[in-house]
Amino acid sequence: MQITVLGSAGTYPGPGRACSGFLVEQGNSRVLLDCGVGVFANLMRRVALHEISAIFVTHMHPDHFLDLVPLSYALAYGKHQRSDVLPVYVPPGGKKIWKDVVAAFAGPVESAILAPLALSEHPIGVCRVGALEVQVVPVSHFDIPSYGIQVSGGGKLAYSGDSAPCPALPSLARGADLLLCEATLLHDDALPPNRGHLTAREAGQVAQEAGARRLLLTHIAPHVDARKSLKEAKGAFLGEVLLAEEGHTHDVPAAPQNP
Ligand SMILES: [Zn+2]
Ligand SMILES: [Zn+2]
Repeated sequence: MQITVLGSAGTYPGPGRACSGFLVEQGNSRVLLDCGVGVFANLMRRVALHEISAIFVTHMHPDHFLDLVPLSYALAYGKHQRSDVLPVYVPPGGKKIWKDVVAAFAGPVESAILAPLALSEHPIGVCRVGALEVQVVPVSHFDIPSYGIQVSGGGKLAYSGDSAPCPALPSLARGADLLLCEATLLHDDALPPNRGHLTAREAGQVAQEAGARRLLLTHIAPHVDARKSLKEAKGAFLGEVLLAEEGHTHDVPAAPQNP
């Protein structure tokens, strides 16, 4: 299994950087995790539209789903080989938010954008997408439904989505070969009282507690010095820590079994 970073900027895009989006591939099975601002252009560098098996959106904040608009535009008006509608799994209430957003365009554009995507709520339990198994887990992010995602297929990937510290995170990441974890904040900065995010140190602590093999830090806002994020996470996690960078592909092999 492989994961390619299509966007890793937290909250808003930076110069040449997109918001959250990750392509997970195992053979011909491909799922897109989140589709934030700027992700679609990077996605098209990697795959054609008919090669995407399904999209999973962690939560309905603009930095995680707004590029469904250009993606759907391309399906409606572009030349491509896709004949079926593309499954998009969203949290409870996500279908209404999507419809409300697209309704603002009104008329033929509204129906053109709605038609190519089949939105439904996240499946309960394990969802098989070709060679991949996907499971969503509720996490804690302000007051909206928000999910972390596990993907298995060869190795095991855990993605935090956006989340404040919560008991679900170490359990989501338990034994992950790669933990893709948000690290929006820095521990040494003044932390907002009602935060919906982790510090980089907390991301490291989640990886350490969960026994993850590697940690990939994401959702770092363009104004944050990512070198500090890396240092904080390395202080809390004994395994390898990397920054999620656009265009980089990471192998997610299964851990070697003890004889
Ligand atoms: Zn976000
Ligand atoms: Zn969010």
